[in-house]
Formats: sequence, structure tokens, C-alpha cells
Amino acid sequence: MALTIGIPCESGAGETRVALIPSIAERMLKSVDGIKFLVEAGAGDTAFHSDADFEDAGCQIADREAVFGADLVAKVGPPSGEEIAMMREGQVVAGFLRPLDEPGLARSLAEKGVTSLAMELVPRISRAQKMDALSAMSSLGGYRATIVAADRLPKFFPLLTTAAGTIRPANVLVLGAGVAGLQAIATAKRLGAKVFGYDIRDATREEIESLGAKFVELEIDVGDQEDEGGYARELEREKQERQPELLQPHIADADVVITTALIPGRPAPLLIREEAVEAMAPGSVIVDLAAPNGGNCAYTRTGETIVEHGVTILGPTNLPADMPVHASQLYAKTITSLIEAFVDDGTFTPDFDDEIFDGACLTHDGAVHNERVRDMLSQEA
Ligand code: NAD
Repeated sequence: MALTIGIPCESGAGETRVALIPSIAERMLKSVDGIKFLVEAGAGDTAFHSDADFEDAGCQIADREAVFGADLVAKVGPPSGEEIAMMREGQVVAGFLRPLDEPGLARSLAEKGVTSLAMELVPRISRAQKMDALSAMSSLGGYRATIVAADRLPKFFPLLTTAAGTIRPANVLVLGAGVAGLQAIATAKRLGAKVFGYDIRDATREEIESLGAKFVELEIDVGDQEDEGGYARELEREKQERQPELLQPHIADADVVITTALIPGRPAPLLIREEAVEAMAPGSVIVDLAAPNGGNCAYTRTGETIVEHGVTILGPTNLPADMPVHASQLYAKTITSLIEAFVDDGTFTPDFDDEIFDGACLTHDGAVHNERVRDMLSQEA
């Protein structure tokens, strides 16, 4: 008996990505014994992969019921209530499951008896790099944020010397220099802007400078804010309050501000206050990639684009979905690498002695496996 892996049409609003692409399916079918892909009719349409392409790669096109009846369901976004209702005890689901942002979903999956793997929880260790969907998507988001900003800015990014006069390069400030921020910096540099970067983790200074951008120094001693997982720790309250004030003059000088500052499982830190927006030149642009977690800018409205004091403020929630071809390619590679690691002779084999499985597992055997999510749920109760 082969392990069936279902690939559904994504149900999230505005989602264009798909969890598998034909070339990766073809490779995996050759290299892993005892697996079978059931792809829902039309699942790849928005990512420009037709049902015929999937069939040519060796996948079977199936209806929604069959796909959600597969042994393992591989998704991009979290399953909806209706999708969870279609699943059965003992099944496996993998995808972005928003464990720290929507812990209630973990409860529903546990109640259903589904084993779930959250791409957000894959540990950031070298062995799991090819399974790191967060980094892959952040990189796309950072690139796209700069492109969107350049599109909205009523100015050039590069320095131009023309017979009609000289154009000064745009000033781009990137707040938060993790994976998304560094990609935003690199993209803005390539477009010719003068780029500045800021973060609270020590390691980022060198990374920002190595991309040719200038590190913004604030008179605030943040110490080393990096935790064991490479993520930032939340600043103490007093420093949190000083940060926006000290950033204000740098924000006022910028034509574009791209913000990406996040602390896992916490609301996004407030870095741009109303008065900082007011101090910017009209026509300036803010792209707030922290919008889904409340935003780094006081004016940000999640999923909307607004104008305040002449400044355009964008709060996108899913920029990778603007680039479904490469987003699906990279995502498919990460999720299939995770699945492949735990398939043995046509059977999906949970291995809690493996730190990748143990880390990524959100629910198993009717219970919430992840301790942090369990704590969040017990505090809610
Ligand atoms: P993230 O999306 O959680 O946060 C984005 C950035 O916001 C981080 O750089 C963080 O330091 C910064 N930030 C948080 N609070 C801030 C504040 N108040 N002011 C300014 N900046 C603030 O992080 P991410 O991009 O997913 O990852 C962060 C880092 O983790 C990476 O840059 C890398 O060093 C590490 N990482 C390691 C691996 C690996 O080892 N496999 C993989 C991916 C990432």
C-alpha cells in the first residue's frame, strides 16, 4: 500500500500558492518508494501549473473529498473548519498552521485526532535548512516589499544624472534585518537607493553592512537580543518606549520605510508612531510587513493601503502570494523535504527522538504536542 499525499486547492482568501509543483512531484516519486500524490483538480491553476502538468509528472488528479481523505494532506495555509471536518483520526496534515498566532486551531486539530506538522515550528538548525519554509517565504516577502514600495513612490530609486538635471537617490530605511529585511535591503540596493538598516540583534550590523547599506546606530543599549533559536527577544518596556522616539529622525529622512520587526508569539513592536509619519515628506511610502501581527507602524491597517499625512502606508498580509510561481516552487521544496524525512517504505513514521519532528509536531494522538502552544491554550482557558 502506498502512502497517499493529498494536495488541495488552497481555501485562504487571496492565496495563490500550491504546496506541490510538478517538477518536485516527479523527482520525489522517483526517489521515494511507496508514495502517491492526489492533487485536487485546479490546485495549481493560480500558480500556473495545470492538471495536465501534474498528471504528466505522475500525480493523480482527484476531487476534494479524496484529497482530504489522503493519509497525509500537504497545504500552504491553515485548514479551515470545514476542511478539518473532512479529516479523520490518524491522518497527518502539514502546512503553515499559525501555532503561536491562532493556537485555537491546534486545539481543533488535536480534538480531531490529526497529527499536524507546522512549518513555522521546524527548528532552525542546519539539517533542517531545506525545510525552512519561513525563511523561503520571508525572502520573497522582503523582495516584493521593495518592489511594491518602488511602484508606489512618486520618485526614482537610483541616482540619475540627466541633461534635464540630477536626481538624488531615494533613501530607504529597513527596520528589522532578519531574512525579509535583508532581502528588502539587497533589493533596494540593486535598484540604486541609498539604504539604511536597523535591528536589535548584534549580528545584523555586519549583515546590513555587507549588503552595502548603512547600519543605523541608536543611543540605546540593547545588549545581545538574540535567543538560542536566532530570533530576537522582546526589549524591556523602557527601551521599547524609547526606540520609536530615537528612530523618528531617521524615519523622517526616509522616502521609503520597510518594516519587518517581529518577536515570535508576541505582538509586533511599535517602531513608527503617528508623529513620525507626520514628519515624513508627503509622497513617502511605508510597507509594514509586520501587519499580520499588529504592525510596526501605529497607522497600519492589516490588509489595507491607506494614506495619512500624505504618506502611503501598506499593510500587506501575504506578499509571497503575489509571486505564486517561485513561492510555490520554494514552498513545495521545503514541505516535501520535511515529509520525505519521515516516510519509510510507504508509511509515514513519526519520530519524536528526531528534533525536527519533535519540534515541528503541533498535535499528535489527540493532544497538543507543542509545549508553548499548550501553555497558551491553558492560559486562555
Ligand atoms: P523574524 O521574522 O522573527 O524577525 C524579523 C527581525 O525583526 C529579526 O531580525 C529581529 O531581530 C527583528 N526585531 C525584532 N524586534 C525588533 C525591534 N524592536 N527593533 C528592530 N528589529 C527588531 O526573524 P527571521 O527573519 O525569521 O529570523 C531572524 C534570524 O534567525 C535570521 O536573520 C537568522 O539569523 C536566524 N535564522 C537562522 C536560520 C538557521 O540557522 N537555519 C534560518 C533562518 C533564520
